[in-house]
Amino acid sequence: MPRVQYDAAVVGAGIIGCSIARELAHRGRSVVVLEAGEVAGDTSCRAMGHVGVYDDTPAQLALTRFSRDLWDELGPELPAEVDFVRWGALWIAATEEEMSAVERKAELYASVGVPAEFVDRRRLAEMEPNLRPGLPGALWVPGDIVIDAAEASRFLARDAVASGAEIRTHARVRSLGADALTLDGGESVRAERFVVATGWRAPELVPALPVRPRKGHIVLTTPRPGYVRHQLSEVGYVQGSNPREAESIVFSCQPRSSGRYLLGATRQYVGSSTEVDPKVVERLVARAKQFLPDFDRLPVERTWSGLRPAGPEGTPILGPLPGRPEVVVAVAHEGIGITTSIATGRLISEILDGRPPSIPLEEFRPERFGIRAN
Ligand SMILES: Cc1cc2nc3c(=O)[nH]c(=O)nc-3n(C[C@H](O)[C@H](O)[C@H](O)COP(=O)(O)OP(=O)(O)OC[C@H]3O[C@@H](n4cnc5c(N)ncnc54)[C@H](O)[C@@H]3O)c2cc1C
Repeated sequence: MPRVQYDAAVVGAGIIGCSIARELAHRGRSVVVLEAGEVAGDTSCRAMGHVGVYDDTPAQLALTRFSRDLWDELGPELPAEVDFVRWGALWIAATEEEMSAVERKAELYASVGVPAEFVDRRRLAEMEPNLRPGLPGALWVPGDIVIDAAEASRFLARDAVASGAEIRTHARVRSLGADALTLDGGESVRAERFVVATGWRAPELVPALPVRPRKGHIVLTTPRPGYVRHQLSEVGYVQGSNPREAESIVFSCQPRSSGRYLLGATRQYVGSSTEVDPKVVERLVARAKQFLPDFDRLPVERTWSGLRPAGPEGTPILGPLPGRPEVVVAVAHEGIGITTSIATGRLISEILDGRPPSIPLEEFRPERFGIRAN
């Protein structure tokens, strides 16, 4: 029997909404999640699953580091299908010039106590024998994890429900009132606070939110165990993920325990279609071949694309909406939403409860982006 009123109504059951609901339910809050489609039916089932430390900005570094630690704590509880494996990550320099970026990254990680180690040409070739010979070096980050993003989202949803949360699928929210939201079809759901976790669709419900779909293609290969042994990314990835870049294609290859590999990462602002563009896939594979020369000998099992919820910077927007304190937003996670989902759940529950935040929130607050309810 649904309740008459909830402490919180979360809109969206992607990995962000599920993580928030789980955290609130663990703390004894009554919570309902309203989802237009299925749990993890949109971007969260179309992602790669690198749970890493990312360092585009100090705020991003603090958030991703905090969240990776929380995933580490959660690791032993996760069911096998989440495929939680600490493969570690290698950030590879493609050229001698890029070695300075590797060095900068190494210094940054050391300054915040994230274990990372510089790897020279010879060691890189030993660690990854299928990489192109002669690559100058890489940064080795042993603590980075890979998970199956869709299964992880579904686990968070099940865990939220086991702790008392309700999840209603095929329940699209049309509008947010002062003490109730309205579903398509006219039903009202009353709650004290509303959490907007609607991914790239955020402006449909809250037009003031500066979130755009940023398309990314993925190639999934057939199994060839041992071909790649770590999460591989070119160090130029950081530049490629810059929100101001119109289009980028950088190399990222992710092993799975099935022996398959996921290949990314493309970024384009080309609307909200998830149709696969074969030309982009071709360019993605061509980029991979710069690092793994015989990559195209791995038969492709499937290709797909998803839409990252991109904000004006590489960090999410988290907190009460200025002018409407009953509405709390958790959007714009762009390419780090799988990594930062657990931290987002924790931080949003701290905001709702008025507890001190686990990490400083200033850089994530809607005010900083000039957002006001309209
Ligand atoms: C190709 C690609 C690779 C990626 N790789 C990684 C990676 O390796 N590591 C990483 O950390 N991140 C990665 N990401 C980013 C990550 O996938 C996203 O940041 C994350 O999935 C966003 O989650 P979300 O819950 O905000 O959005 P979504 O998963 O899109 O969930 C939002 C939900 O809200 C629902 N919704 C929308 N409007 C309404 C409404 N009005 N009423 C009710 N429900 C509504 C939608 O149906 C949807 O289910 C990648 C993304 C892509 C596309």
